[in-house]
Amino acid sequence: VDLPIHDAVLAGAAAFGDAPALIDGTDGTTLTYEQVDRFHRRVAAALAETGVRKGDVLALHSPNTVAFPLAFYAATRAGASVTTVHPLATAEEFAKQLQDCSARWIVTVSPLLDTARRAAELAGGVQEILVCDSAPGHRSLVDMLASTAPEPSVAIDPAEDVAALPYSSGTTGTPKGVMLTHRQIATNLAQLEPSVPATPGDRVLAVLPFFHIYGLTALMNAPLRLGATVVVLPRFDLAQFLAAIQNHRITGLYVAPPIVLALAKHPLVADYDLSSLKYVVSAAAPLDARLAAACSQRLGLPPVGQAYGMTELSPGTHVVPLDAMNEAPPGTVGKLIAGTEMRIVSLTEPGTDLPAGQSGEILIRGPQVMKGYLGRPDATAAMIDADGWLHTGDVGHVDTDGWLFVVDRVKELIKYKGFQVAPAELEALLLTHPGVADAAVVGAYDDDGNEAPHAFVVRGPAAPALAEGEIMMYVAERVAPYKRVRKVTFVDTVPRATSGKILRRALREQQ
Ligand code: ATP
Ligand code: MG
Repeated sequence: VDLPIHDAVLAGAAAFGDAPALIDGTDGTTLTYEQVDRFHRRVAAALAETGVRKGDVLALHSPNTVAFPLAFYAATRAGASVTTVHPLATAEEFAKQLQDCSARWIVTVSPLLDTARRAAELAGGVQEILVCDSAPGHRSLVDMLASTAPEPSVAIDPAEDVAALPYSSGTTGTPKGVMLTHRQIATNLAQLEPSVPATPGDRVLAVLPFFHIYGLTALMNAPLRLGATVVVLPRFDLAQFLAAIQNHRITGLYVAPPIVLALAKHPLVADYDLSSLKYVVSAAAPLDARLAAACSQRLGLPPVGQAYGMTELSPGTHVVPLDAMNEAPPGTVGKLIAGTEMRIVSLTEPGTDLPAGQSGEILIRGPQVMKGYLGRPDATAAMIDADGWLHTGDVGHVDTDGWLFVVDRVKELIKYKGFQVAPAELEALLLTHPGVADAAVVGAYDDDGNEAPHAFVVRGPAAPALAEGEIMMYVAERVAPYKRVRKVTFVDTVPRATSGKILRRALREQQ
């Protein structure tokens, strides 16, 4: 796999030929493997002719479309590093990212052009804005397909050159640019491959965003490398999502916990024929075992398999292998993949390794550990120690068979009178209440400075009168006394990132 990422992913494209690689789930536009291979080479040639040089940063600012992978692989083939941008970013947020990574090129789509123009103005340094579709005054990828320029032959060093520069989700602070080399991404694909359920006959549904490393890996790089078909949706809309599964006979879903929740609980699910599905994988945020079981039972599928990773890990380290979905213990995020080391170290005595069954911080060492945060040597040094161990900031434990369980983030643990309470555990429990549509838990301080769990709850349509007392009682009957919820606030929605992560900072502002 020591190839540039576009070659690592598209190595088999010629052989897959006329097989459909990408299908637009809204209008049916289809690109075959032969087209993906030929088109991205043409666009790469046109980008090189435009002036894109090795080491340039190109910002890819687009919801999921069939053109997204073409733009991505064309840019890396031309030698650029691709920084993916949240399509809902404001011009100011986008400008910060452009400035932070000194981006010289933007590839966007016409509906987002105004934002991209303002961002480029604010940031300065952007040479040209290109569009995937078409817009007056801007060159488009479609125009570029007609380019007769020679294909660029850029010497890429997979071990050193940065292929992708995603920004971490910003769940715990300001998003940071994560430098991932060609080798790190390609190696991680190969490491995950023996365990992931995708096969060449698969049809996966790209409903999670490609701009996030999870979607980029699980829904773009991995299936395209395998010869599977990727059906692309621009955003998550439950009815559209269910219709796409039914109409495109989707076989595999890679989702985040809020979608598992919808599949387990939403009445709309019953209106669709989802019998083509063979597996569901969830990652990116904690998933409760009971919720996972409710989802797989309702769909008549093997248990939902989890995976674990982070942007800084290219992104994966753990996954429930396909052939172990039935025997994996409920709630596990999987087993350590090949070529990767893990330690669980004490939170109170840093550096002390803990035995199976005990929870501590998860440390990872392996070829997929990022090159570093762009322009932030201090942040990089705080994350990766001198021996190469990446400190994930996540708390977890393994059982005696090596299955990993993620408890929560170190920083999110609530310290109630010296006991540690994981918000994720209480959130999962709250979701099992039939009247609760969604829930989040953060620590709240009382007048004496004690921290205790504070639940934010969204009432379901069938329980408009659900009261604080009932919720506190429901939790109290099911957990140790120190974990009890001490305060409840009802809200209309739980603020979440697209990847499904609860934005606890936003909730703290509402306390
Ligand atoms: P930032 O680092 O900017 O605050 P972030 O950590 O949310 O944002 P990501 O890299 O997208 O950015 O997310 C990685 C995190 O997601 C992990 O550190 C972990 O906390 C969480 N996570 C990923 N997979 C799982 C899983 N299966 N179960 C529980 N948590 C998970
Ligand atoms: Mg993080």
